[in-house]
Amino acid sequence: MNAHDSGSVKVTDRRLGRRSLLKAVGATSLAASLSPVLAGTARAAEETRLDAIVIGAGYAGGTVARELGAKGLRTLVLEARDRIGGRIWTGSFAGQTVDFGGGWLGPQQELAQKEVARYGIKTFYETPGDRAMMPGETGLVGTDLSTVSSRLSGLFKELFKNSESYFEHPADPLFRKDLLAAVDPLSLEDRLRQLSVSPVDLKWLNGGSAVYAGGSSSWAGLTSMAQWYQLAGGTYEGFESTMGIKPVGGMTALLTAMLADSKAMVKLNSPVSSVTEANGKVTVQVQGGGAYTAPVAVVATPANVWKSITFNPGLPKAHTQATTQGMGVPHATKIWVLVKGKVDAVYGQAPEGSPILMLVPQQQLPEGRLFVAFGGPSLDTNDKAKVQTAVQAFLPGAEVSDYRATAWHEDKYAMGGWGMRRPNQLLQLFPQIEQPHGRIVFAGADIAKGWHGAFIEGAIESGLRAAQQAATLAG
Ligand SMILES: Cc1cc2nc3c(=O)[nH]c(=O)nc-3n(C[C@H](O)[C@H](O)[C@H](O)COP(=O)(O)OP(=O)(O)OC[C@H]3O[C@@H](n4cnc5c(N)ncnc54)[C@H](O)[C@@H]3O)c2cc1C
Repeated sequence: MNAHDSGSVKVTDRRLGRRSLLKAVGATSLAASLSPVLAGTARAAEETRLDAIVIGAGYAGGTVARELGAKGLRTLVLEARDRIGGRIWTGSFAGQTVDFGGGWLGPQQELAQKEVARYGIKTFYETPGDRAMMPGETGLVGTDLSTVSSRLSGLFKELFKNSESYFEHPADPLFRKDLLAAVDPLSLEDRLRQLSVSPVDLKWLNGGSAVYAGGSSSWAGLTSMAQWYQLAGGTYEGFESTMGIKPVGGMTALLTAMLADSKAMVKLNSPVSSVTEANGKVTVQVQGGGAYTAPVAVVATPANVWKSITFNPGLPKAHTQATTQGMGVPHATKIWVLVKGKVDAVYGQAPEGSPILMLVPQQQLPEGRLFVAFGGPSLDTNDKAKVQTAVQAFLPGAEVSDYRATAWHEDKYAMGGWGMRRPNQLLQLFPQIEQPHGRIVFAGADIAKGWHGAFIEGAIESGLRAAQQAATLAG
């Protein structure tokens, strides 16, 4: 399945028509002045009325639009897909509302929690586990959850040793820049090699680091995961709790409320092909027609996607490095699985290289139990028998009645999964990556300072920063 083929999540101009689209995003007050834009017959006079253009309707773009709207700036959001949300995508599987992209909030993520409270979004706790399957000498072995907690707690302490010093203020990662020189060049794999732990302990750790790093612990930087660990409170329990809370209505519910509040106009099916600054204005060209001009444009696409857009003048060094090396992990397959019958709520982790690296139990339904699995690069998700065998490593004898895999790295408007910094990227890219390029401003979870990459918290944080920069430039 292609992640950009939006399935059943629909906020589309094609299906709903213009009036419904405007209603869906709460844009009625701008409807009159921007109607030529929606009709696809934008005239120069209309275009110059825009104060800002936001490229991408994910959480970063949604935050920018909402903030600019609150300042009374007329904002157009151009979104490539036929839906809002980006790497957040709420849909349906086995008759349940589920998330094919990001799905959890953590209690420490203050910006997201504030937005949830602001828009009255209800939340609930994740299904508690009954027991676990964890790596043994060979294969996976049954383990009780308290052992998982206490053993991983000790192992995480070792893995992230001294991170409380080099991230003394984890929300401000460069605060102890002097200490980062020794650790920022290390990949997670480099750090794992430094540990004196048993081979089984290593398997307990490298499955967890590989799942976050997009399949291989060699891809991501130690400081990326260590920063999350410190932001979560510097404990395994805190880190684990970032997968603890879910919004009622799925992760798209909050963004829908934010965009409705923004009063911005959201134009779907509008992949941007170029962004050009000249004569104090930015012109944004949409593939297949339509060009829009404003005093400022905010690029709120994934960093990996910047290389597919033509920038004039060309991107600065840090941005070129980010999009060339990648900041979105190279493999991210989230699989919803329905396992037939009454099934224990089994949590599982498997060593790096396994077809499924992590299994997270979800609700028991009359026909079976739902699980979320994170597949590694060795799993062929087109082959049901292989998916069933991979699930059976955690649940011997399990019968998979249905599954749905979303491969974000194959999605042309993500070009990767959640974000994670690579070795050296913290010191080499920051703070330059947060700076505007003339009248072009950048936003996105991938380039957030705090909860970067794998959390909407980072998208909101960077959106707030970008909105301030854009408002200043819009004059
Ligand atoms: C499988 C998976 C699991 C995750 N789990 C969690 C989780 O549990 N909790 C959590 O908080 N976060 C999670 N994340 C991370 C979270 O989804 C992201 O951090 C966040 O959604 C990124 O928001 P963003 O606005 O920066 O980027 P995106 O959501 O990617 O938004 C960018 C937007 O730009 C659009 N775009 C791209 N190219 C163009 C173009 N040329 N023209 C116009 N528009 C364009 C895209 O279509 C998209 O809508 C997960 C991500 C994935 C993939």
